[in-house]
Amino acid sequence: MRKYLIAGNWKMNKNAAETAALVDEIVAAVGNDTSVSAVVCPPFTSVATASDKAANSNVGVGAQNMYFEASGAYTGEISAEMLRHLHVDWVILGHSERRAIFGESDELINKKVKVALENSLQPILCVGETIEEREAGDTLKVVETQLTEGLRDVKDEDATSVVIAYEPVWAIGTGKTATPEMAQEVHAYIRKLLNALFGEEKGEQIRVLYGGSMKPENADELLAQKDIDGGLIGGASLKSSSFVALIDSAKKLA
Ligand code: PEP
Repeated sequence: MRKYLIAGNWKMNKNAAETAALVDEIVAAVGNDTSVSAVVCPPFTSVATASDKAANSNVGVGAQNMYFEASGAYTGEISAEMLRHLHVDWVILGHSERRAIFGESDELINKKVKVALENSLQPILCVGETIEEREAGDTLKVVETQLTEGLRDVKDEDATSVVIAYEPVWAIGTGKTATPEMAQEVHAYIRKLLNALFGEEKGEQIRVLYGGSMKPENADELLAQKDIDGGLIGGASLKSSSFVALIDSAKKLA
């Protein structure tokens, strides 16, 4: 019932020319297939190029961040409306790198989530524990706080536009992956929280992605878990061969 979503978080990689080439390859590989949602999230400077290249294709375009204000004296920031103007449909919010390096709080992330939804952008809200938090037995508590604070005051009618990405911080860019069982345990907890927040009918429709060193070699097992509805992919999204292999993994299960 939930369509798999494979989203590439390119982080601070790929200039516009490199973006054009990579999106061309992904669009060609995805072709007419609509059984899986495929989304690329390049840096802001490449979003327009990605949108041009992905126009009229089955590949969606997302941003990696945005600010909650509509316009004004916010040097260096980008608004939801600016993204919509470039035909962006998705935005990653609360990535652990934004939280850790740029000091983003749950309160700030929540403002962004609500403004994204008001502007018809689908937020991909990232949650996940650090290794210290996992070792202290706090994983579910940390995830619960980030999820409930990040989704505070989100309207029921917007619930199914939200996507959650569970990304254990210790697995991001490290080559360490959560085992499918470890990931499923947290995903099932997230599903329970979503059902409690929005009711079962909507909660069961919300996609919960796994992120953290997902690659073609480990994707089949992760994606086969009951509550894993796709992946937020960093490193393996930077080459069309590995990104398309992940889409193909999801296709086999779709
Ligand atoms: C990410 O940054 O969202 C991510 C999951 O990165 P990687 O796949 O490289 O671990």
